[in-house]
Amino acid sequence: MLKKRKCKCGFEVAVRTSWTNENPGRKFIACKLYNHDTGHRGCQFFEWLDEDPLEWQRDVINTLIAEKHRFATDLSLLRGRVALIEHEKKRLTNEMERMKKKTEKRKGCESSCKHQIVKTDHVGLALVIGGLVMLSVVVSVVVVKVVG
Ligand SMILES: [Zn+2]
Repeated sequence: MLKKRKCKCGFEVAVRTSWTNENPGRKFIACKLYNHDTGHRGCQFFEWLDEDPLEWQRDVINTLIAEKHRFATDLSLLRGRVALIEHEKKRLTNEMERMKKKTEKRKGCESSCKHQIVKTDHVGLALVIGGLVMLSVVVSVVVVKVVG
């Protein structure tokens, strides 16, 4: 029924909601060209649908709107912090992965170094044995020469 009503411009009017501090949440019909932000009023057609809110209702609604805005701000702040934490987590995970690889590389080196130590031990042992064999040969030759 309301939508069939037309303003002086010939446009069908639609039900709209005011969000001013004076009339928060109050419904009205107005010219299609009515714009509260620009102050443009079209053909001046304007009618409130709801009764004028009582002072306490106005206060409650405005308080709730303010709280809603505060929550929205807090939420976007928290979202920003979560994004930062996610970023830091990613960075730390990458760092940890890098350090893990480094450690594995070092471990690989350590085991090959141990191999080298074992190898040198073998070489040392062979040298000692060889030396002992040579010494015993020399000793036996000397003994044979002295006795002989
Ligand atoms: Zn109009």
